[in-house]
Amino acid sequence: MEEYSEQYKAKCIKRLKAWGAPLDGWYCTQMYDVADEKDLPDDVVLTTCELCDCASVRYVHVMRNNHYFEDVRVGCICAGIMEGDILTAKERENGLKNRARRRRNFPTRKWRIARHNVLYITYHGQAIYISKYPHDNSYVVQCGRQTECQYKGRPIDNFLSAAYAAFDLADPIHEVR
Ligand SMILES: [Zn+2]
Repeated sequence: MEEYSEQYKAKCIKRLKAWGAPLDGWYCTQMYDVADEKDLPDDVVLTTCELCDCASVRYVHVMRNNHYFEDVRVGCICAGIMEGDILTAKERENGLKNRARRRRNFPTRKWRIARHNVLYITYHGQAIYISKYPHDNSYVVQCGRQTECQYKGRPIDNFLSAAYAAFDLADPIHEVR
């Protein structure tokens, strides 16, 4: 677990110096949930923070610096140290955690039957439809004016993938900056 202390911060700064990386001017350009990326059950997939080597990171903060050649993928506390604001990093992470909870519960919400082979739900004021095409067992999801027939780059062939694809349209991860 990443846990803030002066020693921990000193270790992170030492690492940045060893890389020849700037000590300030870092900002978060994107966040993601590793479990979400790999579609595996929660708490099964974790990744490693590139700054402190902590191996139990689930929510990745992608940190960028205009004076450094590559992005650095880190956990919450390291992100806070890099951007000089632990609270902002924690708030950002809480936002993503809450979204992860909404996403997990989304497929089991009360879907209604709009017509044969079409389910719908109202979510955050938006009408969402999942249509099944039995002739080839494919699904299309619709949210407002957006439609999607793929999930993670593959045609949707089951309800769960359709529901997640719909959720990603209806409740996207907001651009951090
Ligand atoms: Zn870290």
